[in-house]
Amino acid sequence: MAYQFDIKYKPTAQHGNADALSRLPEGPGNNFDQENNCFAVEELDTPIDAEVIRFHTKRDVTLMKVHRFIQQGWPTFVGPQQADILPYFQRNTALVIIDNIICLQGYSNRAIIPKKLRQRVLELLHESHWGIVRMKQLGRRYCWWPGIDKNIETLASSCNICKRTSASPPKEFSSWPEAIRPWQRVHIDFDGPVFNHHMWLVCVDAFSQYPYIVQLSNTTSADTVKALTSIFAIEGLPETLVSDNGLQLTSSQFKEFCLKNGIQHVTTALFHPASNGLAERFVRTFKTSAKKNLDDSMPISEAVIKFLVTYRSMPNTNNKSPAELLHGRTVRTLLTQILPVTKSSKKQPVTTKFGKDCKVFLRNYSSGPKWVEGIIEKSLGNRVYLVKTLTGQCKRHQNQLQARQSTPPQPTAYKPSKQHQQSTIDEPLKQQQQSTIKEPSQQETTQNFQETNAGQQILEIPTSVRRSERTRK
Ligand SMILES: [Zn+2]
Repeated sequence: MAYQFDIKYKPTAQHGNADALSRLPEGPGNNFDQENNCFAVEELDTPIDAEVIRFHTKRDVTLMKVHRFIQQGWPTFVGPQQADILPYFQRNTALVIIDNIICLQGYSNRAIIPKKLRQRVLELLHESHWGIVRMKQLGRRYCWWPGIDKNIETLASSCNICKRTSASPPKEFSSWPEAIRPWQRVHIDFDGPVFNHHMWLVCVDAFSQYPYIVQLSNTTSADTVKALTSIFAIEGLPETLVSDNGLQLTSSQFKEFCLKNGIQHVTTALFHPASNGLAERFVRTFKTSAKKNLDDSMPISEAVIKFLVTYRSMPNTNNKSPAELLHGRTVRTLLTQILPVTKSSKKQPVTTKFGKDCKVFLRNYSSGPKWVEGIIEKSLGNRVYLVKTLTGQCKRHQNQLQARQSTPPQPTAYKPSKQHQQSTIDEPLKQQQQSTIKEPSQQETTQNFQETNAGQQILEIPTSVRRSERTRK
């Protein structure tokens, strides 16, 4: 203690100095020490009952005016100079006086609380720290004053105790910029262990919502990189990869993977999974949908595939499926087969290289020379011919046929310059060409045909014109 005291006994008769609270010297006005001044001390622990409301109503200037209007009749108009009366004037038909207390009639009568008591009534409504809605419900049952709802909101939202235990504030998202092309931004997330303790990596394209799901035995950086590599092998490398801050996604190994592949890796704020909302939402959908498939007695692998197939081909609000948006074509599913196939009205033109009675060499696969002479009997299809040979008929693909000519090529088939044309029909050349036609050399045929396997050539058959050109050289 900061002071030392000497305590002495003094009889009451000798008291000149009164105690501060009850015997203060009188103030200048007559009302200085009236009861209403002391009431402030007294009311702290006193319940607000009808008596207290009556007491304060009598001292509330506005309420006294209202009291008078209710008793003597309301004016037909209330101007801006009586703004305090206006809220009451607007409800004048519902205002009554019950036992000297002004009440608002309604589902239940609500006491009009004088200004001086409003803060305490608010605190009463907030007892037990009820929220705004409950406070308003309570208020509508018992009391009213102009602006009570607003006052309730202010008090409830400024209560520190309520704030400390309140739920997270309403979520405000700054959404990702809209992806404008496929595989521009890809969101990944892990799910599990679910469905027999499996772990899953989900990967969703922001542009198309096209998902991949990979089952993982471990969720290490190496496993994640391996799974993503297999996805990127199909779809290519995304420009941006969004993930949370999982250890396997913030490791140096994962950073290196992104760096090496030119992928910008963006991680979301800690404990704010909503930033990766696309993957988060997809995980929820996956769990719900796959669970339904499991309940439908499907094994897990089938349940996941079923989910992916339907999800990827499900049209969005713009009537485009993720598959269409990412790959630019509709996917053929069991459902699409319901529709009749629209056959192309344009018939593909049949290109026949050899006409009827055209002289050809055809590939011989039995003993004897590799190429034997024949004549085209008819075309059996786009590139297949029935060929008449010395020994009978056989079927050959045009890749197994070469043109055979007994006459020099017509000038119309090849349009050289005048000088060129002269040399083309030179006698020695003609002879040379004829001899070539009679006996196609093995060297020439192997030079022009690369056989991949028996009977299949991948190069086009050289035209007779080209052959004569080469012979000339
Ligand atoms: Zn509170």
